[in-house]
Amino acid sequence: MARSDGLYDLLKRLTEAFGISGYEDEVRGVIVEELRGAADKVWVDRLGNVIAYKKGSGGGLRVLWDAHMDEIGFFVRYIDDKGFIYLSPVGGWWDPIVLGQRVRILTDSGSLVYGVVGSKPPHLLKQEEREKVVPLDRLFVDIGASSREEVEKLGIHVGSPVDLDRETIRLQGDRVTGKAMDDRAGVAAIIEAFKSLDGQEADVYLVAAVQEEVGLKGARVAAYSLSPDIGLAVDVTTANDVPGAEPKEQVARVGGGPALTVADGRASSGLITHPKLLRLLEAAAREAGIPYQLSILPGGTTDGAVIALTREGVPTATISIPTRYIHSPVEVLSLSDVEYTARLLVEATKRLTREWYEREIGSRH
Ligand SMILES: [Zn+2]
Repeated sequence: MARSDGLYDLLKRLTEAFGISGYEDEVRGVIVEELRGAADKVWVDRLGNVIAYKKGSGGGLRVLWDAHMDEIGFFVRYIDDKGFIYLSPVGGWWDPIVLGQRVRILTDSGSLVYGVVGSKPPHLLKQEEREKVVPLDRLFVDIGASSREEVEKLGIHVGSPVDLDRETIRLQGDRVTGKAMDDRAGVAAIIEAFKSLDGQEADVYLVAAVQEEVGLKGARVAAYSLSPDIGLAVDVTTANDVPGAEPKEQVARVGGGPALTVADGRASSGLITHPKLLRLLEAAAREAGIPYQLSILPGGTTDGAVIALTREGVPTATISIPTRYIHSPVEVLSLSDVEYTARLLVEATKRLTREWYEREIGSRH
């Protein structure tokens, strides 16, 4: 129980931190602080990725672990004369999620200004308008100001970053809910795993990547610079184990253990997990008594897709944490799934030896 309390605290700090794509400073600070002391070296690259290195027992492979630290959010797009603020999305929002939320705007001085997302009152809408989703471009943020000047004086202008204001809390059992579980839960898993690494042959490079939600950008440059032999990406995946979804539509189940992604994305944009690596992950899970699921995600992909295409190619797998209501402020997941994901990373990495690589993948030219 003590261990999962520590994991919960870490997840809470990570998820409550501000960090929309491109503006990850606060969450990056939390990550660097966690990794100092656990790594042989920690550094931040030019795009803002945090990279931590732990040396293996010698002559080993270069194994990259990735999870993205950015979350979806908004930029201020326009401020009207009355001080109402309009938003432009950063990453994939479903518009009906946004109305009625409380948001935080990051000002020039680094402070947060709170606001609420409103719309024209429903009483004034025509019947057919009421039945439709109000699109994001008709929603606005009310920070309580009365003029554009008042807003600008606070250090808010076109381009100021915005996230949702949401506390992370525990639900029943080992379930937790909050914003940005995508993919701070993955970040928590790789940090936990990194701290418990011990005696592995491989050199491990942990990457907490920026700008995944806007095109897998941080992972692309980190993988290029680190030139790994193997990639293991950790992200959340859709758990549509909810009313209205048929069993045959189910991608993964919350509480069923990490989901090994067999394939994701569409055609050229996704990842097909390297089959030899998939087998290794399954064997590692079985031998260590870690429950797992196999999953296929028909749309959307993760950092794994770009890591795999680095330089001459990197055999890569994606390990996914089943999560409900992804890209909303009420994402729900199971702490034990996060903990099992961390354990699976450690167990799999132990098995990633030079001998295995040369036998199953082939030597590097
Ligand atoms: Zn994600």
